[in-house]
Amino acid sequence: MPEMPEIQAHAERLTERFAGRTLEKFVPFNFTALKTAVPAPDTAYGLQLIEVGRRGKYLLVQFEPTTFVVHLMQGGRLLADDKLSAKPRGGQARFVFEPAERPDGTLDGAALLLTEQGKERRAGVWCVSTADALSSPPLEHLGPEAASITDDELTARFAANSMRVHGFLRDQRMIAGIGRRLANEVCHRARVSPFANTRKLGADGASKVGEAIRSCIADSLEYERRRDDMSSSKDRQSAMHSRTGEPCPDCGDPVRAVEYSGYTVNYCAACQTAGKVLADNTTSKFLK
Ligand SMILES: [Zn+2]
Repeated sequence: MPEMPEIQAHAERLTERFAGRTLEKFVPFNFTALKTAVPAPDTAYGLQLIEVGRRGKYLLVQFEPTTFVVHLMQGGRLLADDKLSAKPRGGQARFVFEPAERPDGTLDGAALLLTEQGKERRAGVWCVSTADALSSPPLEHLGPEAASITDDELTARFAANSMRVHGFLRDQRMIAGIGRRLANEVCHRARVSPFANTRKLGADGASKVGEAIRSCIADSLEYERRRDDMSSSKDRQSAMHSRTGEPCPDCGDPVRAVEYSGYTVNYCAACQTAGKVLADNTTSKFLK
């Protein structure tokens, strides 16, 4: 799933392309695409797009007074759409803009199309009041932004929530914007066990994790901003994530895995757990 760096760079690209365009209409292609009833999308018709912003892993297609909050989930994409076909493949919803004149005098008629491949239909759009967007569903319970959380905030959150640090990092109510890949990368860069207890990490642990969060996000953001489109999961760089059995780039020890039904925790025993191989109540062939 795209995480904060992918979403942030994509928001910047969409702003560059679409800011200032006037919304003509919002067209959902099925009844699961729009998750809200009030305010109605037509409250943004005739208005210029201010920008495409971001909160956590959500894109914010911002007009005044109405904002469309878009969650891509696993396979969703929000892309420029020049074809405007009646039934686009995987189409969930379309933002149709009035054609705008380009600097060279030609007309830009592109729309913004939300697609989601597969049958899950989990991507979606929430239409909310711009003034209340951050305190309305689905954003209201998000924790502080991962890229800007301070060590003090992280220390306080670690102290208040006794949980495994890998789970903490993936929990959007604790800290917003990190998913499975970054959780694996952050734990490795911080040299902490993914199963370390947040409360026991204390201020020292929080400052190591905080520094790792900032540097992992900065690296990914720099990579993403060099691209013309959002990376797919296989493009994203990692030292640990999805590298089970490969050598750790820092020490050469094999990358280890603890498998869960929905995801894999990858870590380096030499770098992170003083050589201890982690087991859980799961069966991982890599742990035997
Ligand atoms: Zn290592």
